[in-house]
Amino acid sequence: MQERDLSLSIAHLYPKLLNLYGDMGNIITLKNRCEWRGISVSVSQINIGDDVSGYDLYFIGGGQDKQQEEVASELYSNKDKLTIERDKGAVFLGICGGYQLFGHYYQPHDKEKLLGISLMDAYTVAGKKRFIGNVTVETDFLNPKTLVGFENHSGLTYLQGETKPIGIVKVGAGNNGVDKTAGGRYKNVFGTYLHGSLLPKNPHFADYLIELALEKKYGEHFTLSKLDDKLENETHNSLILKSY
Ligand code: GLN
Repeated sequence: MQERDLSLSIAHLYPKLLNLYGDMGNIITLKNRCEWRGISVSVSQINIGDDVSGYDLYFIGGGQDKQQEEVASELYSNKDKLTIERDKGAVFLGICGGYQLFGHYYQPHDKEKLLGISLMDAYTVAGKKRFIGNVTVETDFLNPKTLVGFENHSGLTYLQGETKPIGIVKVGAGNNGVDKTAGGRYKNVFGTYLHGSLLPKNPHFADYLIELALEKKYGEHFTLSKLDDKLENETHNSLILKSY
């Protein structure tokens, strides 16, 4: 099949509530990098009460504890539906607060625990220190190996079981500032603390996610055609090992 014969559906989960530090840029990047290749894309904004079933790729951004509280109960009410989508191979990308809700729970400071949807075996507790600054992550599955971004979180995330990190932090705190892990992955569910937004300056990761979503939808692997990523790569390279 030619790229122009392909299509993808993207669900942007609760953008009116979780969309911190330009996380919307991730949706724009995914959409553009498909359309620049002739792949048609539908992006649906999923708000409170909307149906979440049947998408190829799901994105959820970050937010302060207050917005997380508002989203958590709605997300939890869709836990079974989203677990079915995960097990069908749908791709998920969660940033910071959204990432935290992919785990079993997020325990804020002196507030009630927010139940997550357990798409990955992880949990988060609010720490005393806020981690703010540039981050460089080294992965073992991307080319180039690096991911760059910006973090701003007090949450400390711990991975368990079959959930593996996306990579190891070379600069910055990552999941918890101790074990050097960055982000989490289980099946095609990815979570990370990298805001910025993440995908515009990590085009190779955007393409990796698009290829996974196409494989889920069509049952075969597609290697996307190359784009002129000169500007994106210059930006990416300028941020490698840049510390705050
Ligand atoms: N409220 C969460 C924390 O501080 C998530 C913040 C965010 O999404 N940037 O850890």
